[in-house]
Amino acid sequence: MADSWEKLRADAENCTACELCKTRTNCVFGTGNTDADILFVGEAPGENEDKTGTPFVGRAGKLLDSFLYAVDIPRDRVYIANILKCRPPKNRDPLPAEEEACIDFLRRQVALMQPKVIVCLGRISAMKLIKPDFKITAEHGVWFVKGKYQMCAVYHPALLLRDPRRKEEMMEDMKKIKAKVEEMKLGL
Ligand code: SF4
Repeated sequence: MADSWEKLRADAENCTACELCKTRTNCVFGTGNTDADILFVGEAPGENEDKTGTPFVGRAGKLLDSFLYAVDIPRDRVYIANILKCRPPKNRDPLPAEEEACIDFLRRQVALMQPKVIVCLGRISAMKLIKPDFKITAEHGVWFVKGKYQMCAVYHPALLLRDPRRKEEMMEDMKKIKAKVEEMKLGL
């Protein structure tokens, strides 16, 4: 049977493939425009996301919104998801086994969405999606071509809350994303 967003969401909501199913309040599937050309991928839901079932709704999400607004990328023209669909307890880093158990949901999201640009939010997402030895401080804002996708990584907004001095670099990276979108003549 052909995959669909409805089937995929139901599969994720019913998933018990790793231990995180036992502690989640909600599966945090993804949010935004499924026809968008730009996909943002973070690492895992946090406390607010677990409560609401929506990614990037807490302070970090609001900060991400402000960067999108600043470079005139409407949030309803992007899709936002995470590598893990369930929250790791106490917001610890995802375990490799959890990433392996969950990554197929993201693969299916990408296959359905067919984005042109994939932006990793933070080190963990970049290490999983771009390359295992990705160095976020040295390689944020650098473009990589993987298959048919233009990919780059930016700082995770939660890191910017802890270290606001990096906001300037984030702004420069967001401008690069906007320029790439314009260069590729993608719809915004
Ligand atoms: S994190 Fe992913 S693999 Fe683990 S239970 Fe949730 S949906 Fe399933």
